[in-house]
Amino acid sequence: KLHNTILELKGNIRVFCRVRPLLPEDGTGSDMVVSYPNSTESLGLGIELVQSGQQYPFTFDKVFDHEASQHDVFIEISQLVQSALDGYKVCIFAYGQTGSGKTYTMMGRPDAPDLKGLIPRSLEQIFQTSQSLKDQGWKYKMQASILEIYNETIRDLLASNRSSGMDQARTENGVPGKQYTIKHDANGNTLVSDLTIVDVCSVNEISSLLQKASQSRSVGRTQMNEQSSRSHFVFTLRICGINENTEQQVQGVLNLIDLAGSERLSRSGATGDRLKEAQAINKSLSSLSDVIFALAKKEDHVPFRNSKLTYLLQPCLGGDSKTLMFVNVSPDQSSTSESLCSLRFAARVN
Ligand code: ADP
Ligand code: MG
Repeated sequence: KLHNTILELKGNIRVFCRVRPLLPEDGTGSDMVVSYPNSTESLGLGIELVQSGQQYPFTFDKVFDHEASQHDVFIEISQLVQSALDGYKVCIFAYGQTGSGKTYTMMGRPDAPDLKGLIPRSLEQIFQTSQSLKDQGWKYKMQASILEIYNETIRDLLASNRSSGMDQARTENGVPGKQYTIKHDANGNTLVSDLTIVDVCSVNEISSLLQKASQSRSVGRTQMNEQSSRSHFVFTLRICGINENTEQQVQGVLNLIDLAGSERLSRSGATGDRLKEAQAINKSLSSLSDVIFALAKKEDHVPFRNSKLTYLLQPCLGGDSKTLMFVNVSPDQSSTSESLCSLRFAARVN
């Protein structure tokens, strides 16, 4: 397992920063407020943000500038993805304000091969590698589930029958619907009651699941526009491998998580339902940071139970599991204060 050595040198938590390019939506004349000191390539370690003439420097395990391609980013995480096939539990998060490039980083544009994000690329690699390991006697069984957490409530994005979908939609409107409860078994597996788990054998099967998930995400959303930015999207692939020659067994998990937008309350001018949403997001994002911080500091008590997200991922965050957090940053002037918050959040867990 030579390729894991780098990760084991400094605990199992990494933070990568990615800056998106300026977009037409940012407005003409909008300036880049970030720069990359001491880096000549599109991949460095440092980033500096300027606000009101003041410079705020940060360093991360890697910094991808606005010119880094989806391929450039994937190259840097492919070994981590690979380790799920070796039996590790892996979590990759995208954190940042709405519009900073989280979904672009995780999903990308599925219609354009060059612009595919980490999720499709990771799955392609996992299936390719598992095929090539057949020669050495390895047989793999893979299972996928896709859910979102909105207002501390789980929605199954692969639920097949319509009535459960409607139950879920009603839950969102404040009327109790299906309750998904989270449990952990003695083997360190997470069990979510009634959650749809699908056996998958090919990338194509997973692609259609992802499509189904994104449809069901938008269906429950007739009353609230752009709700996706206020829920956490969690894709989970469970990998069971057995070697028919040596009888060696491995159980890995790959979690790929597109987090809710991290923007603060004041910006959305929230009241009522919006306020409730914002509070739920704040709670789960700060719980996530508390958990990662406690793990990085090797503290005895890790507050997993403070949010649905951290409780769901508990078995994949502690122990010898591997965690990578992308902090996505918008480079435009009007996002400066949110970008600074995101960088500070990430620097805390780094
Ligand atoms: P978020 O999911 O954080 O709300 P998105 O991923 O939807 O943000 O990105 C916002 C916009 O910026 C989208 O139009 C997306 O295509 C574009 N974008 C984000 N990151 C990049 C990038 N690295 N290169 C080019 N376009 C990007
Ligand atoms: Mg998004």
